[in-house]
Amino acid sequence: MNKLSELQKKDLQYIFHPCSQMKDYENLPPMVIKKAEGVYLEDEFGNRYMDCVSSWWVNLFGHCNPRINKVIKEQIDKLEHVLFVNFSHEAGIELVEELAKVVPKGIEKFLFADNGSSSIEMALKLSFQYHQQNGNPKKTKFISLSNAYHGETVGALGVGDVDIFTKTYRPLIKEGLKADKPECFRCPYGKNFYNCEAECFERTEKLIEEYRDEIAAVIIEPVVQGAAGMKIYSPKYIVKLRELTKKYGIHLIADEIAVGFGRTGKMFAMEHAGVSPDIICMSKGLTAGYYPMAIVGITQDIYDGFYADYLEGKSFLHSHTYSGNPIGCRIALEVLKIFKDENILEMVNRKGEYLRKRAQELFKDHKNIGEYRQIGMIGALEFVKNKETKELFPSEERVGYEIYKIALKKGALLRPLGNVIYFMPPYIITEEEIDKMLNICKESIEEFLNRRK
Ligand SMILES: *Cc1c(COP(=O)(O)O)cnc(C)c1O
Repeated sequence: MNKLSELQKKDLQYIFHPCSQMKDYENLPPMVIKKAEGVYLEDEFGNRYMDCVSSWWVNLFGHCNPRINKVIKEQIDKLEHVLFVNFSHEAGIELVEELAKVVPKGIEKFLFADNGSSSIEMALKLSFQYHQQNGNPKKTKFISLSNAYHGETVGALGVGDVDIFTKTYRPLIKEGLKADKPECFRCPYGKNFYNCEAECFERTEKLIEEYRDEIAAVIIEPVVQGAAGMKIYSPKYIVKLRELTKKYGIHLIADEIAVGFGRTGKMFAMEHAGVSPDIICMSKGLTAGYYPMAIVGITQDIYDGFYADYLEGKSFLHSHTYSGNPIGCRIALEVLKIFKDENILEMVNRKGEYLRKRAQELFKDHKNIGEYRQIGMIGALEFVKNKETKELFPSEERVGYEIYKIALKKGALLRPLGNVIYFMPPYIITEEEIDKMLNICKESIEEFLNRRK
């Protein structure tokens, strides 16, 4: 083990890091980041790492972005926090006025939470309560897709299905119904992205038909199942799902926490399907990696289902202490302004095309890369032991994790998801930096494969 710095020693003395086996830190101690700028992080020893995953999918415009830094400083001197029940503030009001202009059509009212999982809890409770008090008390179930990820609080785990997060807690959670997800890389219908008609929806359709009077909502990660391994599926699936849910008075909840705010090349991923959800959850890019905040957007119809005299008991009694925090709101407002002023969506699509072209050249014919897939500024490589059979490396080999460790030494942070390595850089990444990111990735893969021989 490397010699530890004083900070690293203290870290390991006190901190239980998220999503980690702490014993792994014996081999790879926590990297203490002292400062960051643009796409680069710098540790206490002066080593620089390119942040190819936007620090857990949140950073949009680079670290320490001057425009955002400025508005935070201004906001702090005006108002840092105020309770959001009975009180309001300028930053929050201006934010939702702007947000209303860019969310999918029909989303008209907004509620606040302070992290993605909490916004999922709110969405589920809203849908459930709406049906309870609007003549459909039998609608108490939720459907989500297999391999879905919607956060890690106990309620959110009920609609999640990524085993490493869910398995241990199954006896504790209230599990929803699971519909088979689209499985495009291994499509059982033998289709590809170009001739797909979302045939696999028939399986979901059957499930919805069977339970149609008991389902409150269907929740999806539109177009990309992130934690499942950046699995990209056809928007046609969403079009069909929207039609069927509408027919049976079932809410469609779009979890846009990872894919919202331009990540897929549109402001929201639902736009690829050209249909609107009843409830939308937003976080991550909402505050560009600066502040824990989430917003739930709902339709006027859902809002009206709660609007009544107090004594009717129809209020939505759900709150988080930091709901609508003014600093978070001011940051999110600036995020929307940057989208407009700097033509960000055009930038994402232009750089996304460059990334696609270069990544295809490097990876498409590689014998251990089953597929390179991409949408907007999300690219992913799926490793396979055998390209013909698409057989995976055994999970004990921790392929992604091993490549991640090699890439770190070469100056790139490429956090894996099992057998998948993905690129999800801040939008301000330059073409040169894209090349560098891809080259480090390629070299790291080769080094891993050579070592394995
Ligand atoms: C990150 C994420 C969440 C959970 O958000 P947290 O802020 O980590 O609680 C939920 N859904 C999706 C799709 C996510 O990517």
